[in-house]
Amino acid sequence: MNFTNKSFLVLGAGISGISAANVLSSLGGVSTLSDAKSYDELSEESRNKISAGVRLEFGRQDKALLDGQDYLVLSPGVSIYHPLVDAAQGRGIPVFSEIEIAYHLSEAPIIAITGTNGKTTTTTLIGEMVKTLGKKTVVGGNIGIALSREVLGLPADGLVVAEISSFQLEAIHDFRARIAAVLNLTPDHIDRHRNVETYQLMKERIFANQQASDYTVLNFDDLTVREMAARTAGQVLFFSRKQQLAEGVCVDAGIITVHWQGKSVAICPISDMNLRGAHNLENALAACGVAYLAGVKPADMARVLREFAGVEHRIEPVATIKGVAYFNDSKATNPESAVKALEAFSGHIILIAGGRDKNTDLHEFMTLVSERVDHLILIGEAAARFAQEAGKHAVKNIHTAETFSAAVALAYRLAAPPQVVLLSPACASYDMFNNYEERGKLFKALVRDLSAN
Ligand code: ADP
Repeated sequence: MNFTNKSFLVLGAGISGISAANVLSSLGGVSTLSDAKSYDELSEESRNKISAGVRLEFGRQDKALLDGQDYLVLSPGVSIYHPLVDAAQGRGIPVFSEIEIAYHLSEAPIIAITGTNGKTTTTTLIGEMVKTLGKKTVVGGNIGIALSREVLGLPADGLVVAEISSFQLEAIHDFRARIAAVLNLTPDHIDRHRNVETYQLMKERIFANQQASDYTVLNFDDLTVREMAARTAGQVLFFSRKQQLAEGVCVDAGIITVHWQGKSVAICPISDMNLRGAHNLENALAACGVAYLAGVKPADMARVLREFAGVEHRIEPVATIKGVAYFNDSKATNPESAVKALEAFSGHIILIAGGRDKNTDLHEFMTLVSERVDHLILIGEAAARFAQEAGKHAVKNIHTAETFSAAVALAYRLAAPPQVVLLSPACASYDMFNNYEERGKLFKALVRDLSAN
């Protein structure tokens, strides 16, 4: 597909939309970036990212914007149900996701990872593994780096590792993943996809254009994902944390092992892995399956598994002070994620939780807190309800801290080996911070201050 000298209307001025508009205008055509927001509402950081050549149409999204356009491009923040999509289709204007644009900008093969949870961790892990092949590799997608910018100029013998959300799959046409992985599927984002079936169908599009020479890596333990095997043209490699597989990636006598086409290849004892938690073992199994199919040597996969400590803000080790290890799990913005973190430790936890209350059900979370947490330190708007629920579940030692730094200071005063201090809030951060990243960064800075004293 030739994008030179064409006109593009890009909807949505998020990271990917801005990148796509910049890239497309650099190809010699005209690209127009449009957002329902006014230009004044756009952050200064975003404004500075927009190239001079991009035309801006902010605060309006009427059909006249489609006049003279060759393509309509959707950034992941804009739904396929946007009225301009229908209007474009009515006029015969192709509607492309940003990743569809990226697909046409480089001939390098794509490894694509999707699922409800674990995408960023698994994508990053796969990125580290395939980099050992010595090819020019880009790791991007939903991860905060727009794929279209990253792939521009990438040679055909390079490699793309892309985290793909269901939103980005809404408007693909030819996008082909040589290796596609689906990690798991639980109801999420149903508001936008309208129902679970559509959400699942969107996720399945990750292997839509695969051919017999391609591979689909699927989670055997997730029944919905397991059944996708019947609908892909690619060769299926399952992974399972719970079962032995004659063919697939699983744990044999404590060792991650790939069984594939009559060969069994031992990768790494799970006790050597730096990542914590059963959920991360699933991510590691998926990553091993993908990396193995991509030709990575088992010894290189093992080295990465020993070294890789996870992605920032996801049970991230921060420091050990007076024998107490501190972990930043600020990404746990709901109880399900915090449960995963609590499960990753056998007990002796000093837990800092709370923030903007999403009024979620806390039963499973508080049950685990009562079993594994020695002191619960509550913060933010959720503190009162969390304390009440904790009381109902016979949680011991419930504290409330007025400020975030007071919570960290209290954790420090209370903690003694073999305890660990864990920030896993089970809440959004917006009552005190702009986002979970800011919350995690402050936690790390406060912990580092403690270790300096
Ligand atoms: P995503 O990019 O899909 O949001 P991340 O790798 O950023 O996923 O992990 C986010 C959170 O999701 C983690 O902190 C953890 O609580 C949970 N999680 C990660 N991997 C899995 C998994 N394989 N299964 C279930 N939950 C997971």
